[in-house]
Amino acid sequence: MLRLTEASKTFPGGVTALDGVSLTIHEGELLAIVGPSGSGKSTLLNIMGTLDRPTHGTVEFAGHDAGSLSDRRLSALRGRWLGFVFQRFHLTDGLTAAENVATSLLYAGVPRGRRTPLALAALERVGLGHRAGHLPHQLSGGERQRVAIARALVNGPALVLADEPTGALDSANGRAVLDLLVRLNREGTTIAVITHDGDVAARLPRQVEMRDGRIVEDKDPRPGTGPRPVAEQDADRSPLGGPASAGGSAGRADGAPGQTR
Ligand code: ADP
Ligand code: MG
Repeated sequence: MLRLTEASKTFPGGVTALDGVSLTIHEGELLAIVGPSGSGKSTLLNIMGTLDRPTHGTVEFAGHDAGSLSDRRLSALRGRWLGFVFQRFHLTDGLTAAENVATSLLYAGVPRGRRTPLALAALERVGLGHRAGHLPHQLSGGERQRVAIARALVNGPALVLADEPTGALDSANGRAVLDLLVRLNREGTTIAVITHDGDVAARLPRQVEMRDGRIVEDKDPRPGTGPRPVAEQDADRSPLGGPASAGGSAGRADGAPGQTR
């Protein structure tokens, strides 16, 4: 579904935040990208999510080479395939929970009449149907993050990228948000969770560990893939072999949003 090949990012000023990272995310996965502060996790998320372009290397998403697309096409691709969740929720203060969720449908071009029912269905999915009319400041941190998750889901994205989704929450709320992400994955959403917290990562099936802009370990539980030293992964990094991972398009024939399941 998503494949980075030798992706590097050097910022103006010379900091190399990402140094030759190759990573494949398969449809249906739930993985953690874990590492200390400054190891390049957010930079990696921005590049996986096509919010930023790598200095070197390639990003392929749903069969598209992101590097060959204009900013406008990339933005359309993001709106159609990706959902984002951030540490600080990024909700709009003056809008209700339902309006915050519906806004992402507005950007996706969904007609007004369909936005509210879809937003309400997404809020139901995260257990917040009863909070639809509340403003962000009337909600707890955990509830705000669940609204943000509903907003990420409402377009029926193929992949949800979450950057420290539990980082601003106390442990009980953090656990609840993680439980929710695990459930959404069981229901079919592919999810990558970025975290500096080893305990959070340990709860997810696959752990990709970063240090100094590189992947130092990829613990992947799928049969035949178990932990492998990075050097060995380098050796079999064949030129785009393996199953075509352009998947994710199933059931999304026209890209119409609204698969809230
Ligand atoms: P993490 O999310 O793991 O804490 P980041 O990806 O945010 O790490 O940062 C990795 C490195 O890149 C850090 O040294 C950080 O200071 C640097 N960095 C991140 N964003 C920028 C930027 N926009 N300009 C310059 N340096 C940056
Ligand atoms: Mg970060």
